[in-house]
Parts: sequence; structure tokens; C-alpha cells
Amino acid sequence: MIDKITRNILERDPGEKEFHQAVKEFLETVKPVLDRHPEYDRLGVIERITEPERVIMFRIPWMDDEGYVRVNRGYQVEMNSAIGPYKGGLRFHPSVNLSILKCLAFDQVFKNALTTLPMGGGQGGADFEPKGKSDDEVMRFCQSYMSELSHHIGQDTDIPDGGLGVGSREIGYMFGKYRKQRKEFAGVLTGKGLQWGGSQVRIQATGYGVVYFAAEMLAVRNETLEGKTCLVSGSGNVAQHVVEKIIELGGKVVTLSDSSGFIYDPEGIDRDKLLFVKRLKNIRRARISEYIEKYSEASYTEANLSLDYNPLWNHCAECAFPCAAENEINENDAANLIANGVRLICEGADMPATSEAVKTFLESNILYAPGKAANAGGVAVSALEMAQNRMLLSWSAEEVDLRLRRIMKNIHQTCLNVADSYGEPGNYAVGANIAGFVRVVNAMLDQGLV
Ligand code: NDP
Repeated sequence: MIDKITRNILERDPGEKEFHQAVKEFLETVKPVLDRHPEYDRLGVIERITEPERVIMFRIPWMDDEGYVRVNRGYQVEMNSAIGPYKGGLRFHPSVNLSILKCLAFDQVFKNALTTLPMGGGQGGADFEPKGKSDDEVMRFCQSYMSELSHHIGQDTDIPDGGLGVGSREIGYMFGKYRKQRKEFAGVLTGKGLQWGGSQVRIQATGYGVVYFAAEMLAVRNETLEGKTCLVSGSGNVAQHVVEKIIELGGKVVTLSDSSGFIYDPEGIDRDKLLFVKRLKNIRRARISEYIEKYSEASYTEANLSLDYNPLWNHCAECAFPCAAENEINENDAANLIANGVRLICEGADMPATSEAVKTFLESNILYAPGKAANAGGVAVSALEMAQNRMLLSWSAEEVDLRLRRIMKNIHQTCLNVADSYGEPGNYAVGANIAGFVRVVNAMLDQGLV
């Protein structure tokens, strides 16, 4: 059945390689469920679950500071709403295309299901590069983007969140435009500012959740993060808060990166250095290479795409937290990580490891958590933001953080229980995929053929 379906998808959507990869890997891990339910073939379960309920594609014209008109392309992929309104991130990056967003939306469906909160899955974005643009340009782009997107989203239908290239600045501009255009102040986006409907801990949630998940994994082996050396990639929202929480739990982070290169600080990135990185990245929007101008004990290595490995992953450490981009760890990196003593990989980014790298992790005896489980804290706190908006309340940071910790603990336990019950003890990838899949499929079957 899997071969037939994969072939159909390849023929129907040629060129969507990221989407094909996501579907193929996913179907391989949920095969035990398909084997237990031969009726899913007749019911077209996989055909239905791999076809978005709706895809919207639109033009985004905007004017740059020199008075030239620019045109970008926007997308909103509404993948599955069987267990709640569509929910997923927005991504502004030149690499954005339909395949990437379908791949992320597909993954998001099961990630959201795993949280057990009432959220369907979707994903949106545009092939727009916010880097190097002035604030005014970003505002004009966001307003034009929202002038179309506002026709398709709503607090009961589709509630986008921030994501790569879409931080609080972009959410602010988009929310302002939505409010004006629709004449309503509604919880239609999450990741909002604290003064206008945002939730405490939303900014920190993905990164903190990743580290809570890692701590749960280590606890199974009676270990903690205390004193452990950690490699972290990226230097954006997820990476910054992963580092913050690792420091709090006594670990030592020695790397950070951006798309130009990475820094290695053998003395560790402490709270002051992290504050410097936050200012560098969130306010000055500068390059991570500037870190070594301030901290001479660190070194900087420029990204070199001609290498068949990433030297960032070739340092001695016990834990690794990829928090930058898709496919940033290949097979060689996976081998280097293991050879250098890494015993825990916890993904902050979405699908940062290639299928070969994941295979390498699963075949070794290390702890490996896929982003689908480990980075679900962001979307979970987004759901808490939606709940607070509905109730016209705002919970304290302590309350949200406590709920986040509880959710991550539950997700961790669900992954372990489900993996165990399908004969794959300790396989978090299988546990996460199957748990999410079963919940979504059951809801779809309950609701009939729609
Ligand atoms: P940001 O835009 O805040 O930061 C992304 C960081 O990754 C930047 O430092 C960027 O560098 C760097 N980066 C991008 N591409 C590469 C690359 N090829 N090599 C090295 N560094 C790179 O995004 P987030 O931190 O929010 O998101 C990071 C990842 O986490 C994404 O995969 C996202 O989908 C995922 N995620 C995010 C969630 C959230 O709540 N924010 C929730 C769940 C998943 P540069 O500045 O040069 O572009």
C-alpha cells in the first residue's frame, strides 16, 4: 500500500521533494498501524491524509524604500482540521515554496495531535527575505501579505503563528493590518505582544520545551543536563531559548550559528554572552561572526557549502540541539556526532536531520528526539494563548511555564508508551508519529467522508 501511495504522490506532485521526503519517512514509521488496519486501504486513509484540505496561493505586491514595486508569492496550506482549526507557523524566507510548506504542514498535523490540544495542522509563508530589509519595508510587506491572508484566517478556522523569519515584529505588523481591515480584535494570530493578547512564555516556549524534553529523556537514564557540554545550531528564537534553559539547568553550550557560519566558544556561552547574542540578533539583526569581536576566546568558522559535512557538529560534546534549518545534519555529521561522544540529539528545528542521519541515530544506542515531539512546546503555548484570548484572561509566566513543562512531560511519556506498545522501545520517532497519526485518523473516521 505504501509503495502505491508514494508512487501516486510522486506522479501527482512532481518536484515536491521535501513533501515526498516527509510523507515517505512518515509512512515508513506508521507501517505497523497500517498492518493492523488493512481496512485503511479501502477507506483511503493515507490518500486523504496526504492531500491538503485546501491550498491558497497569492500575490504580494509591496514597495521598497527606493520606490520600486516588488512582488512575492504567499501560501497558506490548510492540511487537516479533523481535531481543530488549522494551526501552524508562518515562514518568510527566499527558499519558501509549496513543497516545503506542504512538508511542514504535514508534519505539523501530527505534532499538534501529539500535544492532545484541539488543533489541526497547517503552515503558511512567503518567499520573502526579511534580512537586509528596513523596518518600513518589512511593515509594507506584512501589510500587503495580510491584506490577502485576512480573507482566509479566523479564530475558529485558521490561526497562524510565528516561525522562521516571522518574529514579534512581523506578527505585530500583520495583526495591526488584520485588526484594521476586518474591524475586529480577535485571537487570529499567536505570538502576539504581551500588551495586546500575547501569552507569557510564548517567545521562550519552543526552546524551553526542547530542553524540558531533553531533560525527560536523560531522566530515563538517570542523568541530567548538569555539567554536560552541548552543541546548539542557529541563533534565532529557538536557539536562544534552548541556550537560556540549558544554562539554567547547569549545562554548557559551546556553539551557535547563522547561515553565514558558526562560533565555537570553548569556555561556554554564559548569561551575559547570551544577552549579547540576543541584542545582536533581535535588535541589531547582525551576523553571529561579531561574537568573536567581543569574546576573543571564541573562534568563528565561515559556512562552506562545498564540504560534505558541517564542522559545527564535529566537536566533542554530550548533547546536540539542532535549532536552525531543515536537513542541517547529514549522514557524515551524524557519524561525527556519535564519534565525538554525543549521546543525546534533541531537535529544536523542524526536520533538521536527513533521513540517512536519522537512520544513523536510530541504529546507535543514543537518545534521539524528532522535532515533531521535542519542539511542540511552541505550538502548545500558542494553544494556551488562544485559550487565554477566548477567556479574556492572561496567566502568569509561572502558570504558563508549569503547563508547558507538564505538556512536554506528557508528550515524552506518550512517545515512550506508544513506541513500547508497537515493539520499538525507546524509539521516539516511531512513538511520536504513531501517537499523532492514530489520533488524527480516528477523528477523521469518526467524522465520515468529508
Ligand atoms: P529564526 O528565524 O528566529 O532563526 C533561525 C536561525 O537559523 C537564524 O539564526 C538563521 O540564520 C539560522 N539559519 C537558517 N538557515 C540556516 C542554515 N542553513 N545554516 C545555519 N543557520 C541557519 O527561526 P526560529 O528560531 O524560530 O526557527 C528555527 C527552526 O525551528 C525552524 O526550523 C522552525 O521551523 C523551527 N520551529 C520554530 C518554532 C518557533 O516557535 N519559533 C516552533 C517550532 C519549530 P540567519 O540569521 O543567517 O538567517
